[in-house]
Amino acid sequence: MITIQNNDGDRRVLLLDSPFALDESPDFPEYLFDVIFITNNSVEETKTILNGINPVTSTKCCYKPLFVAKSLKGKMGNYDEIIDGYADDWNSMDVLTAIENIINYNTLIGLAATEDPIISSYQFFIRLTRYLISRKKSILEPRLDVSASTGYVIPVFDLFYRLGAYELSDYFVFMQSMVEKGLFRASKFVNKVYLCPKCLHSHLLYIHTCPKCGQSSIQTEEVIHHFRCANVSPEHTYNFGGQLRCPKCHKVLQHIGMDYDRPAVIHTCNTCGNTFIEPQTKTLCTSCKGTFDANELIPQDFNIYEITSEGKQSIISPNIGFTIYTEFYDNYIEYNRFLSRIRLLAEQKFSGNIQGDLLVGKIWILDGEGLTTSIRPELIELVCQYFPNNKVSVSNNITYVGSVVRNYKNVGDTEEDIINFQVLLSETIRAAAGVLRAEEKICYTYMKLQGNQSTIDDFVKEMEFISQNPDDSYSPSLDNPDVVSQKPASLQDEPEI
Ligand SMILES: [Zn+2]
Ligand SMILES: [Zn+2]
Ligand SMILES: [Zn+2]
Repeated sequence: MITIQNNDGDRRVLLLDSPFALDESPDFPEYLFDVIFITNNSVEETKTILNGINPVTSTKCCYKPLFVAKSLKGKMGNYDEIIDGYADDWNSMDVLTAIENIINYNTLIGLAATEDPIISSYQFFIRLTRYLISRKKSILEPRLDVSASTGYVIPVFDLFYRLGAYELSDYFVFMQSMVEKGLFRASKFVNKVYLCPKCLHSHLLYIHTCPKCGQSSIQTEEVIHHFRCANVSPEHTYNFGGQLRCPKCHKVLQHIGMDYDRPAVIHTCNTCGNTFIEPQTKTLCTSCKGTFDANELIPQDFNIYEITSEGKQSIISPNIGFTIYTEFYDNYIEYNRFLSRIRLLAEQKFSGNIQGDLLVGKIWILDGEGLTTSIRPELIELVCQYFPNNKVSVSNNITYVGSVVRNYKNVGDTEEDIINFQVLLSETIRAAAGVLRAEEKICYTYMKLQGNQSTIDDFVKEMEFISQNPDDSYSPSLDNPDVVSQKPASLQDEPEI
């Protein structure tokens, strides 16, 4: 059952009691309800519902107050982090007050209710941080959790990690970057731990191994030093019928500290027979099953983080996405730098220092009226991911990818690489379907530098314009994507330079 009803505070409550693909359903657009109330008394079923319907990852429920049945209080584990209250009466005073507090606070801080679907770890982190700000939770405190990936986890982050919302490596980069930017502050050091270098999990087994053969079947015994004759050898060489007797001078040993002592332990490998003082410590990761030397482990500080007041403002700002996402990609550069780079490469090409072709891909999104939409961080991020070895930049609603198709052999055959560039651009715009809103269309065209030294300015000028005849376009709302020209290597649409 799923319905929308007005509460006594004139807020529209979405009531539901079973799992429902709310974000995908056309019947309940996000503007029709202000509050979510899950009326199911089973812990497991409610958790399942919350996996899809929650105020963080659900596009339609974003930042909205959410309540579950009273009987579940104290039983929801980390899910408690995304529940605003437990109640059976959705018109009780407590519930009404909690709803007004959240909605009014979100309005006050200007937290926009509408968000795009989440397509990356960083987008998720921003969304979750915004949610925490909306609930006035500014302290991120790691807790020890035996079942959690890194041992210490911030419960609300871990809840979504288990649902596949992000990668651990992205998590650490995000935290560090937020601290560097002053948006988070490490308010208290908790512990330094060592993580698996491959998967970043913390559940490692420490194993002593033979330094010669690497096996761990090892016997350990004490070494005895007989003062009288200075013999030093393992304890078993002193054992004679229950007595300790020196194997060298044959005297019976009397009192430890008086005539002998045990200065060390010695290890013997059962596999290869090697004897050694220091075994080698190896770690076996229980998660990825990799074996590593102890000195290969990744040291990681866990801190209690606090979202700073500057952080609250920046994170809520709609522009945060742009600065955050682009910072994570080494291949993103400012447009001025991108332009000078293109000019430099063009000059290099015409002076003969580069054999090959200089290409620039341009991607843009058109709205229902055929006008370009403003830059969308998720698209830049996607392009950065699809072209990790190319420079990516943006300017005036266009996302750029630069490419030099080298031709070392100088036989004039770069066609295949150019086709690959086009194919990848076509794949990229299709992968961007999640970034697009209804009625929008994403297009690309690519330019190839031709001519000579004097045409560089024209080429650069041409970069500013979108083409009326894109090389390829894609609109997820159309059954038959508008394939204008998918004929790779057909150069007639190219600007003549
Ligand atoms: Zn002796
Ligand atoms: Zn051995
Ligand atoms: Zn591992």
